[in-house]
Parts: sequence; C-alpha cells; structure tokens
Amino acid sequence: MKHPCNKCGLEKFAYKQVGGNCILHPPVVVVVGEGPGKSEDVLGTAFVGPAGKLLRHALQQAGVDPARVWFTNLVACRACDSLGETNRIPTEEECEACWPRLKHELRQVCKDGVTDVILAGKTAARYNGAIQSVCPSGTRVHEITHPAAVLRQGGANEDGAAFQNYIKRLEEEVVQCFGISTSTA
Ligand code: SF4
Repeated sequence: MKHPCNKCGLEKFAYKQVGGNCILHPPVVVVVGEGPGKSEDVLGTAFVGPAGKLLRHALQQAGVDPARVWFTNLVACRACDSLGETNRIPTEEECEACWPRLKHELRQVCKDGVTDVILAGKTAARYNGAIQSVCPSGTRVHEITHPAAVLRQGGANEDGAAFQNYIKRLEEEVVQCFGISTSTA
C-alpha cells in the first residue's frame, strides 16, 4: 500500500498511517503513546486495541471523557517484525523522523485549548522535554504507565481480581494527573 510518508521505513509494513484523533472537538487532553499496534494499524485509529480500551476505560473512571481526548503516538506507522506478528519499540531514528508530524499535531491541539498532555509509557516519556518545548508555557505534561505494560503484567481475565487491580492502578495514575478524586468515601 502506498503511504503519503516514507521517511523512516516503517511504512513498508504498515497497513495505515495512524495520526492523532479525537471524537469530539475541541479536545481537552492529549495522550501520546509509543506507536500503533495491530488493531490500530488495521483500523487507522490510535488507542483502540486492548491496551487502548483499558486506558479509555481508566480515563472515563477518572472523570475524563475519552471522546474529548486527542489520542496519538510518537510514530504514526506500526513498528513490528517483518511478518507483522510482533510489535516492537520504535527506534530513536524512527521517532525522530516522525517528530515533525507529532509536533504539528501538538501545536494544533494546544491552539484548541488543550492544557494537559499525558505521556503513556517510557518511550513517550523520553519526549517530555521536547513536548514541553512546543506546547505553550503552563501546559502540564504527565507521565503514566503504558496500559500495554499493565496488561502484560497479568490480567487477561477481565473479571479477575488481577485485571481489576491493574485498572484501579491506572485510574489512580490518571487521577493524579488531573488532581481530582473519583473516591466516594
Ligand atoms: S512512522 Fe512517521 S516518519 Fe515514519 S514513515 Fe510513518 S508517518 Fe513517516
């Protein structure tokens, strides 16, 4: 499939180039992850696979409407093995190649009034300083555990205690970001 961008080579294995998206405008928060996974690559939308669903659920629980969140990633094309089976972490070069696209997105959403940016996972956290430098002063940049890591730590059974605990942990991280509490106690 021909893609509009071929700057870093990731497009060779990508079905779709996945830019940022938000269901309802204007967005109130931005979430930046690492890159699209298998589901995102097929559907062309960021954070719609199992990990994305977990994060959307946690945001909802924390009082943030996921429909008002601009979901995006460091790289717009899926980083994976040549068979398309396994995701991998995008390299520094790949992230750098896609940075102008992300920078453009961030400038646009900040113009729309976004004041909080959440970096999901260690790879995105490496861009904390760079992201702060392109957003207006006063923009709060938060770092949270990537929901894929939460899933990897066990919790395939959504009804099980382990899965519920991980959901709670992620909710707590999101709550910290916004300084709000969902506690009814
Ligand atoms: S990841 Fe970004 S820079 Fe690389 S090919 Fe895809 S759109 Fe272009």
